[in-house]
Amino acid sequence: MEKEIARVAEEIAELVGGDVDRDEIKEALEKYVRLGIDLPSARQVLLKKYGVKGVRGVGDEVELAELSGGEMSVNLLVKIVSVSKKVVRLSGGDEKEIAFGLMADRSGIRKFTAWEEFGLEEGGTYRIEGAYTKSYRGEVEVNLGNLCTVEPAPGELEDLDPSSLPRIGTPREVKIGEIVPKMGTVTVEGRVLSASEKTVTVSGAEKEIQEGVLGDETGVIRYTAWGSVRLREGGSYRIAGAYVRSWKGIPQLGIDERAEVTPLDREVDVKESTEGPTRKRISELLLKGEQYVEVTGCLIEVREGSGLLFRCPVCRRVLKESTCRVHGPQQGYPDLRVKAVVDDGYGAAQVVLNREITEKLLGMTPEEALEESERRGEVLWLEEEVRRKLQGRWFVMRGTAILDDFGPTLLPKEVEIVKGDVEEELKTLLEEIEGVVL
Ligand SMILES: [Zn+2]
Repeated sequence: MEKEIARVAEEIAELVGGDVDRDEIKEALEKYVRLGIDLPSARQVLLKKYGVKGVRGVGDEVELAELSGGEMSVNLLVKIVSVSKKVVRLSGGDEKEIAFGLMADRSGIRKFTAWEEFGLEEGGTYRIEGAYTKSYRGEVEVNLGNLCTVEPAPGELEDLDPSSLPRIGTPREVKIGEIVPKMGTVTVEGRVLSASEKTVTVSGAEKEIQEGVLGDETGVIRYTAWGSVRLREGGSYRIAGAYVRSWKGIPQLGIDERAEVTPLDREVDVKESTEGPTRKRISELLLKGEQYVEVTGCLIEVREGSGLLFRCPVCRRVLKESTCRVHGPQQGYPDLRVKAVVDDGYGAAQVVLNREITEKLLGMTPEEALEESERRGEVLWLEEEVRRKLQGRWFVMRGTAILDDFGPTLLPKEVEIVKGDVEEELKTLLEEIEGVVL
């Protein structure tokens, strides 16, 4: 980078002429770069500052597809695909006529807004210097402001046929089942399976929101609609510019007024059983959590902390040496749980079985476990008992799968022991795993 900066400083100094200090230019460039401005933009800003005009190498132009939405000054060579005019009210209250439309280069088509009169004509080709970009509704737009220069470039891009080009930067169109955390902004079509109003407090202010579930033939997802956005239960919609949020690795959709919500005149097909869990392999849970999932796997390891434990009567945290991390020494109440690792041949996940399930599997209540422990004078016997009874057995588990830095964790609401020849299945599993490893 340092070499690059020195090279650009040298170039600027040459272009400006004799009486400018190269170190000063270099320092200015370094400052811009530190502030996160890319080098070509910084170069452009400095050339403007020193009054150098009309300097431009072909290499300075960037392609529309490269734009990320935060550029302060870029040069483009584009053909105008469409242009219209409208009057907007500026923040100061003044009215202004602006031009907007679509522009293309060899990489694709993007939206633009021209805040000054540049005389852009449909089908015309132009060299644009000093445009800036912004992201709006998840789409990058090119802005031509008063620092921008636009010159007709007849003869350039003559053979460019915009009808064969992609429109860049519109939110990615996805099926609901494909949505994963950190996907950004998406476009989906779905049917509202349920919707209810709710009041939440955001930064001290009460807000009315709508929460619901949206489905298509690939899956379902929870959504929250903000502002004036409301979806009708049973209605089918196209939502462009919804944003993906996640809770413990489980994706959810946020829909606010920046999204374009269009009712569809057809009904979106929804996965047949939206009530039941989605069957998944554990390897699929490495990508995202699931609200309601079914996993079949072998419990390969019972972890420490399984069996009998004591919880704080105030906050339910597990006590260590009769002490709560928050509430200090406590007379805890007994509880049962199992912490384990389950493997389905495709991947491994942690699993936490709650008291209800553990009670059923062990045939024992926490009080009975406590009684037996007092008789034996120790509590670890039950962990061994859990290991003896559950380790190596196959289970069908239905519940929530969360995903965090430690990988997927299953929190089943229901567990069934798989009947059949467990030994045989284990052997097949091990063979499959070895097959994959080899
Ligand atoms: Zn506590």
